[in-house]
Amino acid sequence: MDKKRIIIVGGGFGGVKCAQALTRNLPSDQVEVVLFDRQNHLVFSPLLAEVVGSSINSLDVLVPLRQLLPRALFRTEEVRGIDREANQVEYQAEDGRSARMRYDQLVVACGSVTNLSVVPGMADHAFPLKTVLDAANLRAHIMDQMEQAEIAEDPGRREWHLTVLVVGAGYSGVEAAGEINDLLRGSSRYYHNWKPAMVKVILIHSRDEILPEISPRLREFARRKMEQAGVQMVLNARVTSATPEGVGLQDGRFLRGGTIVCTIGSSPSPITGALNLPKEKGRLMTEPDLRLKGCPNVWAVGDCAWIINSLDGQPSPTTGQFAERQGRQCAQNIIRSFRGEPTQAFRFKLLGELCSIGGHSAVADLFGMHLSGFLAWFAWRGVYLFKLPTWGRRLQVGFDWATLLVFPRDLAFVRVEQTQRVAHAHYDAGEFIFRHGDAPTNFYVLERGEVEVVRPNNGAPEEIVAVLGAGSFFGERALLGNRPRVMSIRARTPVEVLVMGKNVFNQVSGALQPLRDALAQTLNRRATDNWKDQPHVYELLRRTPVQTLMEPAPEPLLPPTATLREVSLMFVEQGHEFFYVSADGRSVDGVVTITDLLRGQASGGNRSSAVTDFMTRNPVTIAVDDDCAIAANAFREYRLKALPVVETKGSRNLAGCLRIRRLMAFVLKETEIPRKAEPGKPSAQSEATRDGQAAPAEPISKNPTRA
Ligand SMILES: Cc1cc2nc3c(=O)[nH]c(=O)nc-3n(C[C@H](O)[C@H](O)[C@H](O)COP(=O)(O)OP(=O)(O)OC[C@H]3O[C@@H](n4cnc5c(N)ncnc54)[C@H](O)[C@@H]3O)c2cc1C
Repeated sequence: MDKKRIIIVGGGFGGVKCAQALTRNLPSDQVEVVLFDRQNHLVFSPLLAEVVGSSINSLDVLVPLRQLLPRALFRTEEVRGIDREANQVEYQAEDGRSARMRYDQLVVACGSVTNLSVVPGMADHAFPLKTVLDAANLRAHIMDQMEQAEIAEDPGRREWHLTVLVVGAGYSGVEAAGEINDLLRGSSRYYHNWKPAMVKVILIHSRDEILPEISPRLREFARRKMEQAGVQMVLNARVTSATPEGVGLQDGRFLRGGTIVCTIGSSPSPITGALNLPKEKGRLMTEPDLRLKGCPNVWAVGDCAWIINSLDGQPSPTTGQFAERQGRQCAQNIIRSFRGEPTQAFRFKLLGELCSIGGHSAVADLFGMHLSGFLAWFAWRGVYLFKLPTWGRRLQVGFDWATLLVFPRDLAFVRVEQTQRVAHAHYDAGEFIFRHGDAPTNFYVLERGEVEVVRPNNGAPEEIVAVLGAGSFFGERALLGNRPRVMSIRARTPVEVLVMGKNVFNQVSGALQPLRDALAQTLNRRATDNWKDQPHVYELLRRTPVQTLMEPAPEPLLPPTATLREVSLMFVEQGHEFFYVSADGRSVDGVVTITDLLRGQASGGNRSSAVTDFMTRNPVTIAVDDDCAIAANAFREYRLKALPVVETKGSRNLAGCLRIRRLMAFVLKETEIPRKAEPGKPSAQSEATRDGQAAPAEPISKNPTRA
């Protein structure tokens, strides 16, 4: 008789319990249990916060699956897909090729994946807490922040390094906040330049109470205790953006902090997403006996499944406790189905809930008893020690905890070499991407938004010398010259940038001739001081606000739905050289010139192609109160004939446009007049321009909207 094969995808809490129950109860000569996991260990996630807080070693939360499941055939391979018609799983074999394995029964137990993209900037600037590497990275970062706080000279900067923002106050957020608070405050005695009073751990939660999973009395106790320990609560607050400086909230507040921990945002694993089966909130819906709907031989357990608990009719929460119970019951139902017995609906009464809140305190609801404080903390440690799946791990963790009662936490960390990275980063308006004097570590490509190049002015008000828009790059000069930054770069609008570490930049620019050429051209352009021989022109432009020379934008503003034919007609009828495109009739989304139009036609666009297919998206803008020197730099940088002028810095609302011809006419007129005037006597017009009240220049065209 052929052996039956049961495949389990995922060696987490659910998959492991299922495999254990199957291998214990089924004869190995008749049934083969194969478990796939991309990692060779189970992550005991309830203890991840302890790794962050340096209470236990990172390896202590990993349990090798091979040792845990000696009777199962364990494969460290990633499952790529499930073919339900052929009863096969597809996986990536050792040589990288795609391979398949047949199953008689399949258990999907692949958990969920972290999805930080729910909040702009979160993926780039926040630390998730899902894997042991996440916990180890976060721990190293916090250690680094303590070191930076020690050497920071500016008190504001020191405070920033010592501020940790934890987003989400469920179990993992609360445990992480408690541990980090203990770590920072407990370690302060080894540092000379900061004190526990400077530490700020802020727990941000969208609801009005933390720990919504537990009873209100315990919740209240947990909040009070954490506040007494120094953790600040920001409740009823939704995080809307994350930047290197901190997080923005929906109500407009911005919380600054050098560490952001994100414990919200998870989505189903890609293989469950690809299964064309009924889902709820992305999780696979099961029958009461854990079989997938419409699939007699496919089952699902744990975080990837939407399972109704028949005890109370409620969907099971995504916790380890439920995943384990489901794994065990799934195994029992598979065995029942082999024996031809009826399967049973999933039914589970929660044994209890435990959450550590730091400061040797915890809250617990065990068998109906509410415990809090030290007793609960003791119970919490005892229960988790007992729940660790092997005696080896129990001894190790127990030893770590016992050591910590006598010795301080370990403060050593390994710094990750940052210059090797290629990453995306989000900055909010007003934030510095780098400052004058900073070491040259990265090269930046502006993907969205605008930045301003700021020159420090030795105590005098800073000078904005240029504005850069999407598609521009910066940071190359200091990197190539290996010297500190000479200018600062500040986000003018919310921006997204691609950040390339120094080594990656050197490798890419060394290998790619077109990039080298573009860099050389830009370096030449930016290094040339155009105003060296004409300081009076620069001064004139600096004191002339753009508003003075601004003209109305060409009418009408085109909707994004305008077709190639309509745009062509518009050019012919109106006689303009360009039009702005705007979805809402106010903000500038794009610009279309005759060249763009011809390019749109040449690239095969038909008469009904939309203007968005061939326009230049998000062109760089200047604001009405910018000075004309900034505008002149933008004309040079982007080789443009006209710039859209917006109402305020950072807004996209169109106020008009500035044409290079008008700017040139103004300069010529203003700088030639003194020659005609009597020697020593300034002209009336140049008098008027002296304090920024530049006299309007005469239009050089009768129709001011035409360039
Ligand atoms: C920081 C933190 C603290 C927590 N604290 C608690 C707590 O105190 N109490 C509690 O009950 N719960 C807690 N949880 C929740 C608990 O960890 C999860 O509910 C539980 O791990 C879910 O088990 P699972 O088997 O469904 O998935 P997981 O344990 O996530 O396991 C899924 C496994 O599938 C593997 N996998 C995924 N896709 C594939 C693929 N395509 N091919 C091969 N392998 C794949 C993964 O590598 C992983 O090993 C916490 C979670 C976190 C992140």
